[in-house]
Amino acid sequence: MTDATERPPRILPAPTGLNAELYAYWARGELRLQRCADCHSWRHPPRYRCPSCGSAETEWALASGHGRVFSWTITHRPVDPAFTPPYAVVVAELDEGPRLVGNLDGIEPAELRLDLPIEVGLVAASDTIGLVTFRPA
Ligand code: ZN
Repeated sequence: MTDATERPPRILPAPTGLNAELYAYWARGELRLQRCADCHSWRHPPRYRCPSCGSAETEWALASGHGRVFSWTITHRPVDPAFTPPYAVVVAELDEGPRLVGNLDGIEPAELRLDLPIEVGLVAASDTIGLVTFRPA
């Protein structure tokens, strides 16, 4: 039996190539991002070549999961029935430099402020898709 107030599941990405590798790491609870094996610069989203030095040598390195709020938007209208408004979508800049987009936990959207220290959480939405969430550090 389905509760009349139950929300439908969120629509998940259908990644291929490097993005599929990325989401699979996140589904296993590993916050891995690409890092150049030659110049060691971090990058996100995944690419085949380093934008800093052009190298194709890449490693999937563990990121710290610490960062700060870079930007956000608060949705007040129910655009997607999987989400209960108001909710925030946050862009966080990790201590390593790359920026990630995700949902917010543990704080009301109205309490967001620039540079708020955050921690990254990973939610396994399926066996192959892990999603990013942020909570105050
Ligand atoms: Zn490089």
